[in-house]
Amino acid sequence: MQTVVQQQKRWYEEGHTRSYQFRRDQLLRMKKMIRTFEKPIIEALKFDLNKSEFEAYVSEIALLKSEIDHHLKHLKQWMAPQKVKAPLTHKGSKNLIYKEAYGTVLIIAPWNYPFQLALAPVLGAIAAGNTVIIKPSELTPTVSWVIKKMVEQYFSPNYIAVVEGGKEVTQELMEQPLDYVFFTGSVPVGRKIMEKASKQLIPVTLELGGKSPAIVNKDAAIDLAAKRIVWGKFTNAGQTCIAPDYLLVHHEVKAPLIKAMKKYIHEFYGERPLENPDYVKIVNDQHFDRISSYLDAGTVVSGGSLDEKRQMIEPTILDQVNWSDPVMQEEIFGPILPILAFDHLSEVISQVNSRPKPLALYYFGESEAEQEEIMTSIPFGGGCINDTLYHILNPHLPFGGVGESGMGSYHGQASFDTFTHLKSITKQTTKFDQKFRYPGSSFGLTII
Ligand code: NAD
Repeated sequence: MQTVVQQQKRWYEEGHTRSYQFRRDQLLRMKKMIRTFEKPIIEALKFDLNKSEFEAYVSEIALLKSEIDHHLKHLKQWMAPQKVKAPLTHKGSKNLIYKEAYGTVLIIAPWNYPFQLALAPVLGAIAAGNTVIIKPSELTPTVSWVIKKMVEQYFSPNYIAVVEGGKEVTQELMEQPLDYVFFTGSVPVGRKIMEKASKQLIPVTLELGGKSPAIVNKDAAIDLAAKRIVWGKFTNAGQTCIAPDYLLVHHEVKAPLIKAMKKYIHEFYGERPLENPDYVKIVNDQHFDRISSYLDAGTVVSGGSLDEKRQMIEPTILDQVNWSDPVMQEEIFGPILPILAFDHLSEVISQVNSRPKPLALYYFGESEAEQEEIMTSIPFGGGCINDTLYHILNPHLPFGGVGESGMGSYHGQASFDTFTHLKSITKQTTKFDQKFRYPGSSFGLTII
C-alpha cells in the first residue's frame, strides 16, 4: 500500500495528469473500459446481489456513461482558470482562480451499488487531474474482483489502482499520506474515517446514510405517489442510500395509498416476489437477520415472507409502528416500509427535525405553499417533490448529504469541484505601484 501511494504521488508530481488532453483521453478510456466489461459487470452483480440485467444496467452502468459524457462536454470549461473581479486596491492586477488537483485520492466504496459507487467518484477525481486508489467493498467480492481486473487492464497502477479488502485494508490505507479521501458508506464508519483523516488533516467527502422520509399529504396524486414510492423503496430490495426509509402519510389518504402500493408491488414484482428470478437478495446473513428482526414490531399489511436460504425478504409494508420501535430507530436498508400517519404538516416537520438530518426527503402533495414549507423548514441532503430517487439522475444537481447524512457533494461539476483545490492568485502589475498600503502613506492611515 505504501508503495502504491508513493508511486502515485511521484507520478502525480511529474505532471502527467495536468493537461486537458490527458484527462479527456482517460475519460474516453474509462468509457471504453466500461463498454468492454459490460457483460462481466452485469454477471458479477447478478452473482453478488441477484441484480437483474435491467436493474444492473440502469442503476450501475447507464449513470456512469452519462456522467462521463457530461464530464467530457464540460471539462475544458471547468479546468480553465477563472478570472475574477478585484477591488480598487488591486488596480492594475489580474485575479485568477486556478483549478488544482489535490494529488492522490482514496475512494472507499460500499456494496449496495458496488460498481457505480466505486467508479462515479473516480470520474470527478481524474477529470480534476488526481491519481486514484479505489477500495471496493469486500461484501460484493465478485464485483470487486471485476473492478480490479478491468482497471489493471486499462490503467497503470501509478495512475489508478484498486486495493481489495475489508476494514483492516482501509485502515492501513488511511495511514498513508493521501491528499483526499472520498468515502461512501455508513454513518458509524464515516465517523471513523473522519477521525483517522484528521490525524493527517486529510480533507474528506463523506457520502453517508440515514433515515430518509417520504411524506404523502392528503392533496397528493395518490396512485402516482404509490407507484413512485414502491419503485424508490423496493428497487435493489431497499438497499439504496436514498430509498424512502419510512412513510409519513396523512391519515385521510392512508388506506387508499396502502391499497395502491400493494397493487404496484404485485405489478412490479409479481404475486410472489420471492419467486421472481430478478428480485434482489439481501447482501449477507448479518443484514438479513437485522432486517428480518424489524418485523417483530407493527402489523404487516403487505408481504412479510422470508426466504432465509436465498437471503430474500418480500417487499413489505408495516403499519401500526411507533417512533420507538427498532424499525424507526435505525436506517432500514432493506425492503420494509413502515408507515406512520399524521394530521398536520407541522407534526411532520417537528418529528423529522428532531432526528438527524436525512440524506433524502420526498414530498407528495399538490399545494405549492406546502411543498415550499417542507423544502424550506426541514434540512436534508436533497430529494424530490412528487417523486423518489430521480434527483440523483440529473448531473446538473450536486448530490450529497448534510449533518449526519454526510458532507460534500458530487455528480457533474460538483464532482470536479470536490476533487479540486481553488488556488487564488493575484498577478500584480509592475508598471506602477500604489503607495497607500506602505507605512507612512497618509491614505493608508486613513483607511486603517
Ligand atoms: P460500511 O460503512 O460498512 O462500509 C463502507 C466501506 O468502508 C467498505 O468499503 C468497507 O470495507 C469499509 N469499512 C467498513 N468498516 C470499516 C472500518 N471500521 N474502518 C475503515 N473502513 C471500513 O457501509 P456499507 O454497509 O458498505 O454500505 C451501506 C451504508 O452506506 C448505508 O448506511 C448507506 O446509506 C450508505 N450509503 C450511502 C450512499 C451515499 O451516496 N450517501 C450510497 C450508498 C450507501
